[in-house]
Parts: sequence; structure tokens; C-alpha cells
Amino acid sequence: MTAAVDRIEVRLDRTGDCWLWSGGTNGRGYGVIGIKTGEGRKIRMRYIHRLMYERHVGSIPDGMEIDHLCLVRNCGNPAHLEVVTHAENCRRYFSTITHCPRGHEYTADNTHINPSNNKRHCRTCDRDKTYIKRQSVGERRGPHRRWSDEEIMLILNNPSTKDLSEKFGVNRTTIQRIRRSHSKAPPTAL
Ligand SMILES: [Zn+2]
Ligand SMILES: [Zn+2]
Repeated sequence: MTAAVDRIEVRLDRTGDCWLWSGGTNGRGYGVIGIKTGEGRKIRMRYIHRLMYERHVGSIPDGMEIDHLCLVRNCGNPAHLEVVTHAENCRRYFSTITHCPRGHEYTADNTHINPSNNKRHCRTCDRDKTYIKRQSVGERRGPHRRWSDEEIMLILNNPSTKDLSEKFGVNRTTIQRIRRSHSKAPPTAL
């Protein structure tokens, strides 16, 4: 293990302030290395920054995470690393992202943090989702809706599908379907 960490040391580029890992990174950009551990010499992926912290600073208590103060994920400079709780790590990470993916600002009013997983939600987007969900539930009821004769007459006499779909709160396809199903006049009894 010590020998393995020695090998990591020589692969860190220390020309800048950050000690940049020249080896592989995981999908999220963190430096990783496979280290043989235990009896069967099984290979376990370890984070470079955690190994460097353990060597230069000390052990990392169970469940604690390492925060990169420099925000450079493949940096192994122990001076840039700090042990923090998961919640604190999330809070710091969030503070670097000021807007939701759809561009709403994470103000105090617009932010909801789910206490079970510390995930941050944009209240504006959450409201939209609830609205869309409610709409689609209403729409699902649509086909089973009983249309009155007056409503059907209105649909058949009003050519604007858009107006009708807004008036009845259903999809335009629903209006079109009703129109189609009533388009063939019943054979007139002579
Ligand atoms: Zn750094
Ligand atoms: Zn949003």
C-alpha cells in the first residue's frame, strides 16, 4: 500500500499550485487508481485525493468526505483538501451553482433541500412539474369524460381546435377525435 502511494506521488504534476493527477479519472473527473488490497489481492478503485489526504494529513473518519477547496477534481495537493460531512460537501457544491438547469436562480425562496438526501430542488421547476402532472392526470380522465350534447355541438360548430382545447382543458387531439367521430352524419331515415 505504501509502495502504491509512493508511485502515486511521482505521477502528480506539481508545477502549478494544484498537484494534478496524470493517471486515470472516473466519470466525474476525480483522479482514481486501482490498488491491490487484501488476501486475494483484489483490485479496489481508490480516489487519489483521499489517498493523498491520508498520507499527508491523517485518516478520514468513516462517512466523511473530502472537499476540494480548489474545485479541481483531479488535484491531490493535501493543502487543497478538507474533511467535511456529506451535508457540508453538498452545501459547498451547491453554492458554486447559482441557477437550476432551466436557469432559475437558487434564491432562498426558490430553493428547497430535500432533508432525506440533501438534494436541492428549484421550487419554480417543482411547481411546473406538479402543474404538468395535474394536467396530465386531468387529460388521462379525458377519454372517459362524458361530453354533453351541447358540448359536442359546440365542438362541431367551432372550427378552432385551439380555442376548444383551452375552453375544455383537454388536448387538441381529444377535440379532433370528437370531431372525427361525429363527422359522418348518421344516415337520414327516409
Ligand atoms: Zn488543488
Ligand atoms: Zn428551475
